[in-house]
Amino acid sequence: MTKTSYIDFEKVDDYGPQSAAATFAVEPADLERDEIVAGGEVTIDLVASEGHLEREYLVEGTVRYTADLTCSRCLDPVPFANTSDFTVRFRPRPNETANLAEEMEISAEELDVEFYTDMRVDLRTLAIEQIQLSVPMKPLCDAACMGLCSNCGANLNAAGCKCSETVMDDRWGGLRDIREQLLKKKDS
Ligand SMILES: [Zn+2]
Ligand SMILES: [Zn+2]
Repeated sequence: MTKTSYIDFEKVDDYGPQSAAATFAVEPADLERDEIVAGGEVTIDLVASEGHLEREYLVEGTVRYTADLTCSRCLDPVPFANTSDFTVRFRPRPNETANLAEEMEISAEELDVEFYTDMRVDLRTLAIEQIQLSVPMKPLCDAACMGLCSNCGANLNAAGCKCSETVMDDRWGGLRDIREQLLKKKDS
């Protein structure tokens, strides 16, 4: 089976299951996710076959990619690599006169359903959709990341800041007051 860099549903009809694969670079602008600061290489590998419904096609594959994300707490770049398997059911787009509410219901129920109008599907578009789904919502450089000081904005992983010292002083000061009061009570 030779692999093409696009899916052609007509070939699936004529010759049975078709393999397709592609490797390309993606930029943050392609992905439209604020968490991504630098793109990387993407590889998509899949098999398209006939689905259970009429004119439905089943696309099953794997997407691998690397990117630099931003830590949601300290804003440092976080190298990220992901491999995810996916299944998408391509169904012919319901015609304009079809009940819109019905269409919305279908999309909400079956997240893996996509509508096609063209018998050819671009692998790049498909890979980008899958990456968007797999990028974590709140990436972290480390589960124990201490983030930024809410007062001065210093990165608390690298070094503390004067703000926390002040808080500490107040706390000790509070204890000191209590201790002094306790001692006074003892004396009296
Ligand atoms: Zn972090
Ligand atoms: Zn601070």
